[in-house]
Amino acid sequence: MNNRPHVVVVGGGVLGACVAGRCAARSARVTLLDAAVPGSGTSSTSFAWANAQKKRPDSYFRLNADGLAEYQRLAEAGIGSGWFHAVGNVEVAVDARSAEALEATVADLAARGYAAELVTPRQAADLEAFIDADRIVAAAYFREEGWVDAEAMIADTLADVRTAGGEIRTHRAVVGFEQAGPRTKVLLADGEEVLADYVVCATGTATETLLEASGIRVPMISEQQRKQRAPDDERYTAVGGLAFTAPLRTPLRRVVHTPDLGLRPSAQGRAVLGGDGAGSRVPRSDDAVFENGPRLLERARKLFPAMADVMLDAVRVGVRSIPADGLTVAGFTQSVPGLYVVVTHSGITLAQYLARLVADEVLGSEQAAALADFRPDRFAAAARA
Ligand SMILES: Cc1cc2nc3c(=O)[nH]c(=O)nc-3n(C[C@H](O)[C@H](O)[C@H](O)COP(=O)(O)OP(=O)(O)OC[C@H]3O[C@@H](n4cnc5c(N)ncnc54)[C@H](O)[C@@H]3O)c2cc1C
Repeated sequence: MNNRPHVVVVGGGVLGACVAGRCAARSARVTLLDAAVPGSGTSSTSFAWANAQKKRPDSYFRLNADGLAEYQRLAEAGIGSGWFHAVGNVEVAVDARSAEALEATVADLAARGYAAELVTPRQAADLEAFIDADRIVAAAYFREEGWVDAEAMIADTLADVRTAGGEIRTHRAVVGFEQAGPRTKVLLADGEEVLADYVVCATGTATETLLEASGIRVPMISEQQRKQRAPDDERYTAVGGLAFTAPLRTPLRRVVHTPDLGLRPSAQGRAVLGGDGAGSRVPRSDDAVFENGPRLLERARKLFPAMADVMLDAVRVGVRSIPADGLTVAGFTQSVPGLYVVVTHSGITLAQYLARLVADEVLGSEQAAALADFRPDRFAAAARA
């Protein structure tokens, strides 16, 4: 007789994989179902910067700051050296306006106890050889930030799930959920039904449509919509592009940000370029989204001499999984009580920490105070109001 609770996790991106890993570590019997293959969704098209910058309100900032701290905790325990790269982030300003914005960001974050400090252009160049001190006017250093190799983290975590006796089933699309007495039924597209003690839905951008079929409302930002960070900032959209360079002679060491571009290291000494507004004016289905790769490289060449003769190898376009109010969704649903939903932007930063909280809530009896502001029923309540 097997008394281990059976948890079905639907979706094998960073969130589903990490939840599966944490549930397996708590001795649950885990089955992960993915409509395609784990790691092939948004998680494979992510800039993957672990940080808590520009997060509002305070509970969402705190969640992200704790998300970053979780990676550090794992690193101290010797976990994740193959995927969490604690290299720090250097941000540079190129004129008086961007210098003022950078100073304000540092002041705000430092006041909340976040590791953020202003450095001189010379110090910035010492921190990252890519930076030319003569081309910038101010800089800041966020020493606890870094980047995550999401594909490696998913592969590693799912290997642990298999070792613990868990099962990873690929090309198994889920179409609905039903409560069946004390258990929860997962309905697959091919007619199969899987019964579980608990089900965690971690299907990223597919969440709204999938849950609608079971009468659960979790609205998401569509490809055509913009998430407004601030009333005067309309650039941040669901569709985002990344450009991968060929291997660099002198690889980038740290995450670097300019006012309109992010750069981070990648495998084989490549750099990944990303930026708000890159690829975002057209839907994912329009091939014009790929034109943003060269645009990002052009921005990089203006500021970084090391990029002058670098070629692009690939452009990837992804759709951010952003709940309609911009905040994380995590909690059991009301209409299917054994079904837990987790979906968020900043999923790379949050994956390990959220997964721990989710596994604790699913398999334990305590409600995490850190998730109190992020329950899925807020949308139903808002609709009723
Ligand atoms: C351009 C870009 C830049 C980003 N930059 C950052 C960043 O710097 N820092 C950060 O923290 N975050 C960043 N993000 C966000 C982050 O990448 C995402 O929040 C995260 O990857 C979402 O992971 P997920 O597991 O929820 O979804 P996904 O990775 O999309 O995984 C969902 C999985 O569910 C499966 N699935 C879907 N529907 C079904 C179904 N019906 N049945 C079964 N399986 C199903 C899919 O096949 C997929 O494998 C960025 C995103 C983009 C696009």
